[in-house]
Amino acid sequence: MSIICPSCGNEIRENYFKRKYLYKPLNKEYKLYHCDKCDLEFWTPLEFVKEVYENEEVRGYEEFHQGLIDLKDDHLMFLSSYEGKADRLKLLDIGCGNGSLIYKAQECGFDVYGIDVDSKSIQAASEKLGLKNVYNMSLDEFVEYAKKEGLKFDVITFFQVLEHQTDPSGFIQKVRKLLNPGGKIIGSVPNRNRLFAEFSRSGRTYDFPPHHFLWFNKKALENIFLINSFEVRVSKLKPSFKRIIKLIFDLFYDRTKLGIFKLSVSERFFSNSVIQNVFILVFSPIVLILQGIYNSDLYFEASGE
Ligand SMILES: [Zn+2]
Repeated sequence: MSIICPSCGNEIRENYFKRKYLYKPLNKEYKLYHCDKCDLEFWTPLEFVKEVYENEEVRGYEEFHQGLIDLKDDHLMFLSSYEGKADRLKLLDIGCGNGSLIYKAQECGFDVYGIDVDSKSIQAASEKLGLKNVYNMSLDEFVEYAKKEGLKFDVITFFQVLEHQTDPSGFIQKVRKLLNPGGKIIGSVPNRNRLFAEFSRSGRTYDFPPHHFLWFNKKALENIFLINSFEVRVSKLKPSFKRIIKLIFDLFYDRTKLGIFKLSVSERFFSNSVIQNVFILVFSPIVLILQGIYNSDLYFEASGE
């Protein structure tokens, strides 16, 4: 028996896995493989588990549902790259969550659409942010819908989405069907070669299946777009001060459950309490050092022929 790389189709011997992982809520065992041909690391079995996104085991999803999350560094990089150039371009955000990004993109001048498989997030996007073109659909369902409606897009974004896919090449091919000629795909994935990757994973589930099936590095990310006939530019994303502070506080909160580390990520960020501010000051030299060396995410910009 052999395992097929979901990016390039390379065959890997089944007993050549690198490590195992047990997902306790489902008592399900996963195996990690490395593809020598395209450099992707992926977990098998590659089977999507929808319930994972609806339960609130992971703090990030809970924040999504409540409409609390604010824009991440990758979102900000995207928005700034289109400042003054969005001029009614049609934008689709796949995995739009509560719509924070497309809400801002709309202010920038984009004609915005969003899809997400999580019904609660879509509900928040439409009720809390008043977004009209948001759909609780899978990409397959939306491709069908767009075909009927004659919808095509100039820019399609998916931030921190590709690593969740069980058939990433199929996913990119579906996205291609939604693109106008000359259209662009923009997004980000976690960088598996980031500093402290293993430390940040320990005791937490978010970087493992059935959340993240694919672990990219720069080369694997470039390859998956090249394999699917896109030209691509991949850059390493330097996290903001705020992002690193949040990472440090989340880490302490996850391990100590001390309320002082439970940072709000909204505009209340720097004014939660005196104690928090003192902690932020204490940590700030470390944060500044980390900022220089911590390549947490990879940002991609791909265009078809
Ligand atoms: Zn491969």
